[in-house]
Amino acid sequence: MATLCQAIFEHLCSQFQSCTHVSFDEAATVFDDLDFISVIDEEHSKDEERYITLGLSKRGRLLVVAHTDRNGKVRLISLTTVSPGYMVVVCEGRRGEGFFICGDCGAGFRSRKEFLKGHDTPQGYKCSAKPETLRNVSLGHELVTDVLKIQFSHSPSIPIEEPGFAFSLAYAMVEGAAEILGVPSNDLNATIAYGSESYSIPPIILYDNVPGGAGLVARLEEKNILRDCLDTARKRVSGACGCGENDSCYGCLRSYRNQFTHQYLQRGPVLHYLEEILAKWS
Ligand SMILES: [Zn+2]
Ligand SMILES: [Zn+2]
Repeated sequence: MATLCQAIFEHLCSQFQSCTHVSFDEAATVFDDLDFISVIDEEHSKDEERYITLGLSKRGRLLVVAHTDRNGKVRLISLTTVSPGYMVVVCEGRRGEGFFICGDCGAGFRSRKEFLKGHDTPQGYKCSAKPETLRNVSLGHELVTDVLKIQFSHSPSIPIEEPGFAFSLAYAMVEGAAEILGVPSNDLNATIAYGSESYSIPPIILYDNVPGGAGLVARLEEKNILRDCLDTARKRVSGACGCGENDSCYGCLRSYRNQFTHQYLQRGPVLHYLEEILAKWS
């Protein structure tokens, strides 16, 4: 299936020279969900770990944000801001089957079968498109906003399950950040990226949920604000909501927009992890 995400990825790579050695297949996992384009720069990763994050500048130019971990210095959390950051939201349809679009009139269908029954054009005429004009695509849109990549480098001392743990931590961070910044939690959102095999938690991408960005997530770069955010996130998953540790509810991690992850969200492991991080914080 020629997917939109593949096309976008190839388009980005064609504009960004040193990215051309990364094949789509290697990087395809970044498109598993609502994702931020972030890949490991393998050529330069022999001695140190380095990520490449693609971002689009206000002038429409592609920017590269390279992030390296400083040798010898153990950090609990590393932050990378991209402002404005370029995100691609891709929907691959039910069960990843994509959407079917008539190449002649643009009418959309859930399946090839539905198309073959015949259809009217948006103007109300009988469409005479031949079967070979049908296109199987993914749908998506671009989002330019302020983005913060958070890499937790401290490994949890308790066993965790992915991607449930990273999503749970990400949504706890959204709730914590919204409270600290004094904005509704709908103004922020999060997803997880895939960038590093050497950390047990994949990078968490926090972003302003408003077109163009509102400078919200960038404020977490301030150490005290980040700490307060983690502490507020910890309180959020402390159990005051009344749900079990292996569960989640609308009082802690769940929201309307993260329904697709509800079954994986567990507040307990996040609580214990945030307690560990905060205890080590200096
Ligand atoms: Zn048609
Ligand atoms: Zn709860």
